[in-house]
Amino acid sequence: MSQPGIPASGGASTGLQAQNGAASASGSPYTNGPVQNALMSSQVSVSQGYNSQLPGSYPHLIPAKTLNPVSGQSNSGGSQTVSPLSNYQRPGQAPYGPPVASHPVTPSLRSGPSPQMPLPTSQNPAATPMPSGSFLPGASVPSPSNWQYNYLSQTNHCPRASSQPTMTGNTNLMSPQYVSSGDSSLQNNFIKSGSALPLANPPLPTTFQPGAPLGPPPTGGPPPVRGLTPQKLTARTVPQPSFNSTSNQEATSQPTNKNPTMSRSVGYSYPSLPPGYQNTPPPSTTGTGIPLSSLNYPSGPQAFTQTPLGANHLTASMSGLSLHPEGLRVINLLQERNMLPSTPLQPPVPNLHEDIQKLNCNPELFRCTLTSIPQTQALLNKAKLPLGLLLHPFKDLVQLPVVTSSTIVRCRSCRTYINPFVSFLDQRRWKCNLCYRVNDVPEEFMYNPLTRVYGEPHRRPEVQNATIEFMAPSEYMLRPPQPPVYLFVFDVSHNAIETGYLNSVCQSLLDNLDLLPGNTRTKIGFITFDSTIHFYSLQEGLSQPQMLIVSDIEDVFIPMPENLLVNLNESKELVQDLLKTLPQMFTKTLETQSALGPALQAAFKLMSPTGGRMSVFQTQLPTLGVGALKPREEPSQRSSAKEIHLTPSTDFYKKLALDCSGQQVAVDLFLLSGQYSDLASLGCISRYSAGSVYYYPSYHHQHSPVQVQKLQKELQRYLTRKIGFEAVMRIRCTKGLSIHTFHGNFFVRSTDLLSLPNVNPDAGYAVQMSVEESLTDTQLVSFQSALLYTSSKGERRIRVHTLCLPVVSTLNEVFLGADVQAISGLLANMAVDRSVTASLSDARDALVNAVIDSLSAYRSSALSNQQSGLMVPFSLRLFPLFVLALLKQKSFQTGTNARLDERIFAMCQVKNQPLVYLMLTTHPSLYRVDNLSDEGAISINDRTIPQPPILQLSVEKLSRDGAFLMDAGSVLMLWVGRNCGQNFLSQVLGVENYALIPQTMTDLPELDTPESARTIAFISWLREQRPFYPILYVIRDESPMKANFLQNMVEDRTESALSYYEFLLHIQQQVNK
Ligand SMILES: [Zn+2]
Repeated sequence: MSQPGIPASGGASTGLQAQNGAASASGSPYTNGPVQNALMSSQVSVSQGYNSQLPGSYPHLIPAKTLNPVSGQSNSGGSQTVSPLSNYQRPGQAPYGPPVASHPVTPSLRSGPSPQMPLPTSQNPAATPMPSGSFLPGASVPSPSNWQYNYLSQTNHCPRASSQPTMTGNTNLMSPQYVSSGDSSLQNNFIKSGSALPLANPPLPTTFQPGAPLGPPPTGGPPPVRGLTPQKLTARTVPQPSFNSTSNQEATSQPTNKNPTMSRSVGYSYPSLPPGYQNTPPPSTTGTGIPLSSLNYPSGPQAFTQTPLGANHLTASMSGLSLHPEGLRVINLLQERNMLPSTPLQPPVPNLHEDIQKLNCNPELFRCTLTSIPQTQALLNKAKLPLGLLLHPFKDLVQLPVVTSSTIVRCRSCRTYINPFVSFLDQRRWKCNLCYRVNDVPEEFMYNPLTRVYGEPHRRPEVQNATIEFMAPSEYMLRPPQPPVYLFVFDVSHNAIETGYLNSVCQSLLDNLDLLPGNTRTKIGFITFDSTIHFYSLQEGLSQPQMLIVSDIEDVFIPMPENLLVNLNESKELVQDLLKTLPQMFTKTLETQSALGPALQAAFKLMSPTGGRMSVFQTQLPTLGVGALKPREEPSQRSSAKEIHLTPSTDFYKKLALDCSGQQVAVDLFLLSGQYSDLASLGCISRYSAGSVYYYPSYHHQHSPVQVQKLQKELQRYLTRKIGFEAVMRIRCTKGLSIHTFHGNFFVRSTDLLSLPNVNPDAGYAVQMSVEESLTDTQLVSFQSALLYTSSKGERRIRVHTLCLPVVSTLNEVFLGADVQAISGLLANMAVDRSVTASLSDARDALVNAVIDSLSAYRSSALSNQQSGLMVPFSLRLFPLFVLALLKQKSFQTGTNARLDERIFAMCQVKNQPLVYLMLTTHPSLYRVDNLSDEGAISINDRTIPQPPILQLSVEKLSRDGAFLMDAGSVLMLWVGRNCGQNFLSQVLGVENYALIPQTMTDLPELDTPESARTIAFISWLREQRPFYPILYVIRDESPMKANFLQNMVEDRTESALSYYEFLLHIQQQVNK
């Protein structure tokens, strides 16, 4: 394997600089590069996260005075444990190497031989360019105005583009997506065109010919498998004459277990091969005594014929398109201004044979900006669209097949997990769909536990499900899976106590204590701080919690570490006592100082032996000790796009986050502050440790009841949702493609291994890619993400998602398959980076130019008929609208009085949210709800749910006699017009007249009226579709919240921003140049 060794020979020193390694630009030692380099040269294992604990430190003894939190372990801590590279398997080696011998592990915590964890490997590490700087504070990037998504430029847009196809040099400052166009004419801010008029020409069809083949005849790639006869052993049990059989419908009717919890029964799940399987007929489905329903695959098998993955995928390849003839339209946006569908926009369906597509990964989990992958980088460059993936890998799933098997089948060369898109050459050999290596089918895999038939490797769940979870054997561990550890760190300064937050949080914890994910090993602890740090001994047997105060914040030590993080079960009463008394303990405090940095250091020390989740509540700017910060916000510059502080003012929080990452600690920051708290600096603690940031501006228990409710709802989700510990994620793609930039909260440990001390089901990620080698010999490409984590029950698991997409050779096909939401989401991530590395105005220009460049490319290269107007392919009909919405989003807007912390928080959200919520935040859905009817309603579990059409975001669509609901993802806003009908007021809001609508109303009364039932059904339905609970604000005309509502009217003109039509005119003017 590769990721440790191979890059070392090539551009390791730079190639390994973390893309989120801000320090790489600022010269801090905490770059991946130097550290990794040191590791390389000394042949140290790179599985830092799993061997990074100090030798012998895994048990609960905490070397409080000896552990230096800034010990240079930073991203890895790997220098502490040396294991030979040969422990990591290379192609051709046995799948799992011998256990690493050099990790002292406590016997008491172990039950087997010393395990190791071979980390997933990169399929082509030498060719994998370094990740570029996602967060490069202070980096001086030449003022760019558009994105060069790729390495090679076909146009003179890109005067200084490197011609190197891979990034082997120090490219952090010259990350390839930030190549300036040099075309200053494109940098003009929107210029309203006075001359362009809507054009009369009707849209003409594109040059795309549905009948034309999608590409050259296949000359390589996985060949179709056909006519393969099954092993004779199967013949008696399943009518399965060949892999191409189409008579498998009965397979779908097999018993399925709908139990969403997918509980695992170890004994039966994936039994090893039945004794004597080679000589006797396999057990029949009824003969084993094991009911099928007790098996592990509740999702049930899908009818499977080994899909012809080769040439045949083309035969029906147009079927996807023929279903959507609209998709072939060319649209003049100046004529057809309302392209917003009245129902939620669906992601495009990849143009694949339906047999392949039906096995494909759910786009909610994994999608690509281009559902048709351009064959060459040149073609991608021509399209001027970004190529990347958007992932929601740990999403809560109703159904998830879980496999327990002693053999996890992976490609011996690139370590790809076997998946639905591999091809079986025969029963004994399968060909990897990422690197094309031919692998043997292990004996155990020949047995299908679902059908209990031997000789059906192609019907195994691993080959039937694009999303699957494996129970990882001990080879995937370097130490015993950690227990769930939860540490809460509370600001108890005067300011904090004033907000009253502690009461809410403690109450919420009390309410949810038994719902914390975990088992009998769960540990919990508490730290509070103001100018000093307070620990709480919760040792079993104490009559009440003991508070221990440490006033030396210069050199923090941990008193009685063994009693501070305690077993929740054993000390539950003490924990409850503490939570009940904590809010009262500091009510008289006069201490205004905040020693957040030292408190975080203490918390880190306490947790570093085990790892876990640290939840930090902070209400002000830290003022004491390390990590103290100074106000930097200048309100007079809030509305300007220049000179605002988006970069951290200190690297303390990032360094500490990297230390945390090395010890498997993630930090979630809850910032509840009415004043500037420098979230740009504080947020680093979560960003690099794979935590999350929550922000409640102006939280106050009396003055802002809505925030109180929001915190309570979000805490409930936060405390009880699924959590994965000590996780790593790797994304692989078919040979020829290469991943080069990662977005999200994590640390890039090696070229492409994301370190996620915690992973949560609400986190999203994005990556950028390029086409490194021509894909002309390839019909299909695949992408696979593998997330290895420890569950709260202490199981090591691997969640794998595989996405398969077609390769195309023409620009038209590339445009046809563009996924405008994914493109907009990826651009938003890139724009956050650009804001930080360059400036907000650069980021804004780049967003605009992304639209101009791609539509210009479409006009000049893909449109056969040059006509005036703003011609766009159907797939991109919402592109200008979404980019305009991004420009008006809190992250990137100008001309408003957005607080700096609020802007930074919005940027954090862009980076950390799954695409679906990012899009709702950016372009909310607007519905009229005062006249809901059952027409077109859907029915779910006997409930009738109205489906009002989605309206354009323009005040034109509002009227004072109506009520309008705006769904902005985490927030629902119900604006009630002044002349709203009496019926709605009384039957839904329960008030007699408009004046009686409460100033603060955050839920609807349940009235015994059909109107109330419909409205509540609709709002509940919206809420049920997301795992968190969006607060509903009822907004009167004179309410201060009305400004928030109107701010989302993306299509309207504001003082500082163009209307949608003006924006279109501007784009048209630039495109038609
Ligand atoms: Zn492979």
